[in-house]
Amino acid sequence: MKSVGFIGWRGMVGSVLLNRMREENDFLKITPHFFSTSQSGQYGPTINNIVFKNLKDAYNLNLLEEMDIIITCQGGSYTDTVYSKLRKNNWQGYWIDAASTLRMKDDSIIVLDPVNLKVIKKALDNGIKTFVGSNCTVSLMLMALGGLFSNNLIEWISVSTYQAASGAGAKYVIELLKQMGSLYNVVSQDLSNELSSILDIEKKISQKMKDNDFPLKYFSVPLAGSLIPWIDIDMGNGQSREEWKGQFETNKILGSKSKIIIDGTCVRISSIRCHSQSFLIKLNKNISLKNIEEIIVSHNKWVDFIPNNIQETICKLTPSAVTGTLKIPVGRVRKLSMGDKYFSAFTVGDQLLWGAAEPLRRMLNLLINI
Ligand code: NAP
Repeated sequence: MKSVGFIGWRGMVGSVLLNRMREENDFLKITPHFFSTSQSGQYGPTINNIVFKNLKDAYNLNLLEEMDIIITCQGGSYTDTVYSKLRKNNWQGYWIDAASTLRMKDDSIIVLDPVNLKVIKKALDNGIKTFVGSNCTVSLMLMALGGLFSNNLIEWISVSTYQAASGAGAKYVIELLKQMGSLYNVVSQDLSNELSSILDIEKKISQKMKDNDFPLKYFSVPLAGSLIPWIDIDMGNGQSREEWKGQFETNKILGSKSKIIIDGTCVRISSIRCHSQSFLIKLNKNISLKNIEEIIVSHNKWVDFIPNNIQETICKLTPSAVTGTLKIPVGRVRKLSMGDKYFSAFTVGDQLLWGAAEPLRRMLNLLINI
């Protein structure tokens, strides 16, 4: 059995990955080794009733080089520190990564096998050893609209995202919950008094967000009761890096010959888990809504087409309905007043599953069987 080293297994993506591997009995197919950047020597996870004691040091190259496969959900600075040293030492193992660091490299493949299995298989045949998960909104968009991409129907997409706090990591979710608690605490008595004025409540909440003790260590501005229309670094051309990834990663995943144009605005909102996206899509020919639905649904078994009515939309097309599932609902599909080739769509997906852990787990399974 192949030795597989896990780094970053206790973070948001890592713990979802471990849970999925438990559910699918993947641990029976490998010999796992657990590493930590901060807790070496301490207790690791429990897998199949076995407690993994004595976590290994994630910076010990000798130990890492013993692995056939390394799967890391630790983050970009860890990849920056360790990956090139291992390759310089001529380590020939497979590297699977959730971080964006290596996505742009020519000798890495961005993995999302329901969309690009052919690209992955060709890369394996060509001896590629580095496989990276895509940006979460890109994976979720391709799972939702994959049928339109594979039928070469898209001229361009304009997207607005509504991204959950957990997309930024565990510490950010904790801070969002602290912000929510802080806002609740300042008005909890007013809320149970029927005579309270809503404007007084709103004033207290707005003031609390400006107070020095409001928890802002990670987000740096309020997210609870607000939103943040910027994710990741500034590309210097008005675009955020999250926005830039949309077009670059989509075209790399698809191995597109002619570039598909994708741009938009990425926004952090105060949902806990699941990213949502609103698309304005221009097709390169006029096709009926019925046809669009058939093409979307036939692409993969996780897509769930939600009819464009109030009840099904509010019950099935929300983060709270989708969290913790592999479902990719697509709804709000309608032709737009701009013309016959323009239509809208809205999708929600669990960015910790299809947006991060699941493509990595499936890539690991492809490698186990080599
Ligand atoms: P994360 O939750 O911040 O976890 C990363 C590491 O932080 C953990 O492995 C752990 O490492 C350490 N850590 C520190 N405090 C922690 C705490 N309270 N709880 C758990 N872990 C804690 O990061 P992540 O969101 O999983 O992201 C990992 C990588 O995946 C990043 O490169 C990210 O960009 C990428 N990614 C994330 C998402 C997403 O939706 N979150 C989606 C796609 C890609 P030690 O055990 O070594 O201390």
